[in-house]
Amino acid sequence: MTITFTTETAVRRPAAERAALMESPAFGEVFTDHMISIDWERDRGWHNARLHPYGPLVLDPSAQVFHYGQEVFEGMKAYRRRDGTVVTFRPYANAARLNRSCARMAMPPLPGETFVEALELLVGADRDWVPDRPGHSLYLRPFMIATQPTIGFYGPSSAYRFMVIASPAASYFTAGSTPLTVWLSQDYTRAAPGGTGEAKCGGNYAGTLVAQAQGKEMGCDQVVWLDSAERRWVDEMGTSNLFFVYGDRLVTPELSGTLLAGVTRDSVLTLAAELGHRAEEGRISVEQWRADAEAGALTEVFSCGTSSMITSIGFVRSADGDWTIGGGTPGPVTERLCAELAGIQDGSRPDPFGWVHKIA
Ligand SMILES: *Cc1c(COP(=O)(O)O)cnc(C)c1O
Repeated sequence: MTITFTTETAVRRPAAERAALMESPAFGEVFTDHMISIDWERDRGWHNARLHPYGPLVLDPSAQVFHYGQEVFEGMKAYRRRDGTVVTFRPYANAARLNRSCARMAMPPLPGETFVEALELLVGADRDWVPDRPGHSLYLRPFMIATQPTIGFYGPSSAYRFMVIASPAASYFTAGSTPLTVWLSQDYTRAAPGGTGEAKCGGNYAGTLVAQAQGKEMGCDQVVWLDSAERRWVDEMGTSNLFFVYGDRLVTPELSGTLLAGVTRDSVLTLAAELGHRAEEGRISVEQWRADAEAGALTEVFSCGTSSMITSIGFVRSADGDWTIGGGTPGPVTERLCAELAGIQDGSRPDPFGWVHKIA
């Protein structure tokens, strides 16, 4: 079945207003002129695909998403290159992950070509919103919600809406230069075996807000999540994945089912091997993290994800004590990987893996 989009692009904000909004965008507060919507119903499948002006939704208050939380999302970026073209990064990997999240949440899959076509249409219509300053980008947020109007909990919703919205994002380089201080959450957990930890769903975020607040109170920037059974094994950071650098060897927690399979994580594993590192998936315990950092064997730790790219972690705080990694300054492996990945995205370096996809 082919899904055909209609387009309605008559309404645009004036160039001066757009320029003012793009001057120093706070992340996720400003949105472009348009959005994508596609509806799904049990007996019709996907239909009513449209590019239309950005604006509030009209939904029945009984729509299932408000009560039982069937919602999944993705996060991607569009980059403007020096030659004026606009590209995105591995969009089919995000399309595939959306569908894995949908499968876990009993929601219908969206064809990968339709997902990518939706991005192309939206970025094409709003290409003036893609920043041209180095490191800046247009953040893309595809998501899907359950819209059947019923509070009867009879099973999965019989209706859904897939949407894409877009928001100009400032440089990660300015924020990325100071290493983060992270809080090891021992009171709360994010995901349990058999749960939804590997789905990119809003519910995973709602359950972590209280730990974020606790981390902030402890003077930390981000929360690190441990496994829920032993509270001993490192999972991830809740919006990004973690890498542990031992000189020339990199280790990232294996995909145990309780952490999100980041597209950036997968890219770093490939890129690090290409640059001559040993890049492995494994298990890291809190005791090992601390002992190896204190002994100097663990030289760097960084987080990686689409929104904050590659960010150095310098300090760890936990109920059992604090420790520093590699002197608390960004290390050479972290900086090199960040520069190489940014170079592939902005076109200043070759893309031997075919990761970059032109969208406008
Ligand atoms: C999105 C996300 C990540 C990072 O994934 P990327 O594809 O690299 O952006 C990591 N952890 C969680 C919980 C996430 O939601």
